[in-house]
Amino acid sequence: MYRIDENKCVKCGLCIMECPSNAFVGEGQYNVRHSVVYQSVRIDPSRCTECGICVDTPFWCPAGAIYRDDEPPREVRPADGSKYSEYIYHYDAEKDTYFQKPFSEHAGADAAFIERVREHVSHYPWKWVTRLDNEVMPGSQFYIIRWTLPHDKPVQDVGHPPHIHKDAELLFVIGTDPENPDELGAEIEFCLGPELEKHIINKTCVIYIPPRFIHGPWRELKTTKPWLFIEVNQGPHHTEKTYNQLLPKEAVERDEALDIFIDKWY
Ligand code: SF4
Ligand code: SF4
Repeated sequence: MYRIDENKCVKCGLCIMECPSNAFVGEGQYNVRHSVVYQSVRIDPSRCTECGICVDTPFWCPAGAIYRDDEPPREVRPADGSKYSEYIYHYDAEKDTYFQKPFSEHAGADAAFIERVREHVSHYPWKWVTRLDNEVMPGSQFYIIRWTLPHDKPVQDVGHPPHIHKDAELLFVIGTDPENPDELGAEIEFCLGPELEKHIINKTCVIYIPPRFIHGPWRELKTTKPWLFIEVNQGPHHTEKTYNQLLPKEAVERDEALDIFIDKWY
């Protein structure tokens, strides 16, 4: 039998909308400003099919008020008394193994190769703010955030070569001058599609990249004011397949930094 803990239930009525068997019954609906609330919510046992999703799915009931009467809820609190501190993530760029791990998981990545990747990246005028994925925070999608600091010549030769991801992504490119928030204070060359259609990005913007859409090279030409790059990928981890074959042959032969881009999860 499924029950509602009256002390925990905040009478929001979400369960009434979402129970697949319409087993929740609300009475005395009213509004607090524009949010709907009920005076009482109960489960009708004659309708409940005991599917279990209301208990087994985290936050299905936002207040955690539903339980099985043969499994009374147990309150587990860490020693510091905080239940939710695990959701606040403090990134430590020094300890982050992201740049080593995807490469070391690749069959051909030996220690010398990983060291070359680190060496290349360490010269870029980037300051990492955070990186998050399903492994760091279960349930999270893949995000990276970094600053690009001022530089007067292109960060890379060819740049991040043409590639795709399995999932859609949003690239937020954000200028940081509060007087001119539209101005990026930088110039980025970015190619879109298999035609490598060239765009110059010099304004604050967001770029939508559909799944399997070829994009790149991405090449930061110059930066006069630090700007923020936020990559929001709609998958649980970073996937990438590179299309170096679309680049001029001599560029592929010339730019050894292209070696750092490896197909991941393909
Ligand atoms: S979803 Fe949870 S808190 Fe909201 S009314 Fe239902 S049991 Fe109560
Ligand atoms: S166990 Fe399934 S049917 Fe029963 S109240 Fe929960 S969600 Fe509804």
